[in-house]
Amino acid sequence: MPTQRKVLSFHWQILIALVVGSGLGLVCHSALDDPQTIVKAGNFVANLFVRALQMLVVPLIFSSLVASIVGLKRDGSLATMSRLTLVFYLTTSLIAVFTGLFVVNAIGPGKGVEFDSLFTGDATRDLPTTTGWDAVLGIATRAIPENIFAAASSNRSILAVIFFAVLLGVFSRRVSTEHTATLKKFYDAMFAVFMEMTMFVIKFAPVGVGAAMLGVAASGKLSSFGSLWLYLVTVFAGLAFHGAVALPMLLRIFGGRSPVAYAKSMAPALMTAFSTASSNATLPLTMSSAGEAGVSEQTRSFTLPLGATINMDGTALYEVVAVLFVAQTLGDLSLGQQVVVAITALAASIGAAGIPSAGLVMMVTVFEAVGMGERAILVIPVILGIDRVLDMGRTTVNVWSDSVCAAVVDHRIKSENE
Ligand code: ASP
Repeated sequence: MPTQRKVLSFHWQILIALVVGSGLGLVCHSALDDPQTIVKAGNFVANLFVRALQMLVVPLIFSSLVASIVGLKRDGSLATMSRLTLVFYLTTSLIAVFTGLFVVNAIGPGKGVEFDSLFTGDATRDLPTTTGWDAVLGIATRAIPENIFAAASSNRSILAVIFFAVLLGVFSRRVSTEHTATLKKFYDAMFAVFMEMTMFVIKFAPVGVGAAMLGVAASGKLSSFGSLWLYLVTVFAGLAFHGAVALPMLLRIFGGRSPVAYAKSMAPALMTAFSTASSNATLPLTMSSAGEAGVSEQTRSFTLPLGATINMDGTALYEVVAVLFVAQTLGDLSLGQQVVVAITALAASIGAAGIPSAGLVMMVTVFEAVGMGERAILVIPVILGIDRVLDMGRTTVNVWSDSVCAAVVDHRIKSENE
C-alpha cells in the first residue's frame, strides 16, 4: 500500500521559515564580525520573491477590480459594495488614529526627553516630498492619471490605476448588453490567468519570507533600537490593540466570523506582510488567502485591491504616534493640534503607497500641518534607523484590516441578498 506523505500546511511552512530565518539572522548578527554577506544573500533571495509578487500587482488590481465591477448585478450592488467598503475603511482608520492618540498620550514616550539629545544631524538635507496641505490635495490630483501607461508602470501610482480601473469597469457596464457580456468574459478570463500566476508565485512564500527575515535580522534591524525603545513599545502597543482587539471585535460583530479562525486562514498573507513590509507586494497572497477563507471572489476582487492602496490603519496609527512623540520632546501639542495631526495622518495613510517605508515619507505632511516641517528634516533620518521593524508591524495591521473589511462586506452583502 502506498504510504501517504503528510505535508505541513502552508501557513505552518511560512511560520517555520519566518522563525528559522529570524533566528539564524539574529545569531549571524551577534556571532559574525561582518554579517554583510548573509544580509546580502537573504536580501537577494527575498527580493526575487518580492519582485515576482510586485510584477503581479498592477495586472491583478486592474483585472480584479474591472471583473468585479462588471460582474455586479444592475440592482444597485455596485453602490452598496462601494458604500460598505468605503465606510468600513474610513471607520477602521479613524479607530486606528484615535488608538494612536490614546497610546502616545498614555505612555508618553517623548515626555522628559530633550529634542536635541535624540535628533541631531544635518538640517540642510532635502526631504523627498512636498509639504503641508498641498501634499494632501496632491493625493487627489495624483489619483487621476495623466497617462494610464505611465501610472501603471510604477507601484507608487496604484491609486491612479485604481481610478482608471473603476472607470473602465463602470463604463463597461454602460455599453450595449452584448458588448458588456463580451467584455465580462474577457476580464474574467484575464483575472483567472493572473490568479493562476499568483498561485504559482505564492508557492515560493516560505523561501521568500525566510530569506527576508534572515536579511533583516542579520542586519541588526530587529535588535538595535537604542534610546527609541519606548517609542517602539508605544507603536506596538497601539498596533496590538488595533489588530488584536478592535478589528477582531468588528469582525465578530459585523462579519459574523470567528476572528481566530479567520486570522488562521489569512496567516500566509499576514506573515508575508510582516516580512516584506509591503501591502502591495502582499496583495496576491491576501486575495488567495481570503478566497481560501470563503470570501466571495466578487467581494475580495473589489475590496482588497482598494484596501491595499487606501486603507492603511497601521500607517495612520503610526503617523500619529511618531509626530506626537516628537512633539512631546519639544513640549506638547494642544488638543486642537492633536486633532489636526489625526486628520492629516488619516489623509497621509490614504496617500501612502503600499511599499516599505512609504509611511515615513508621508509623515512630513503631518509634521508640516502642525508647523513642525523643518524639524522633520532632523527627525526622519533618526526614526528611519528603526523603521523596518515598525514597518513590518504596521504593514501586518494594514493587511489584516483589509482582510477584515473584505469579510465584513462579504457578510453584509450575503445577508442583504438572503
Ligand atoms: N509599508 C506599509 C505598507 O506597505 C506602508 C507604510 O510605510 O506605512 O502597507
